Amino acid sequence: MTQQTEQGYICRVCGYRNPDHNPFRDETGTSVHGICACCGSESGYEDSTPESTKVNRRRWIQEGTKWFHPELKPENWDLATQLHNIGVDLKDYQNN
Ligand SMILES: [Zn+2]
Repeated sequence: MTQQTEQGYICRVCGYRNPDHNPFRDETGTSVHGICACCGSESGYEDSTPESTKVNRRRWIQEGTKWFHPELKPENWDLATQLHNIGVDLKDYQNN
């Protein structure tokens, strides 16, 4: 359940736009696009239903938004901006 675009795909859990040219290939060179570099969600699992997407998003935020591939985290990364990619307001996930 990812949005395929020319620039990659946007993770439905965290809103990160994963690039098409990416390091997510296994030893055999097979693309493993399904794992989000930001939150580590696997397409088709964590985001399989709207409810599980929300649950996993909330957990990821409450656990401190740790990056699955921290070396790819932009210096000026901003969670609220990223969440806007998927129409999510960070405020809805704070203070509760
Ligand atoms: Zn993600």
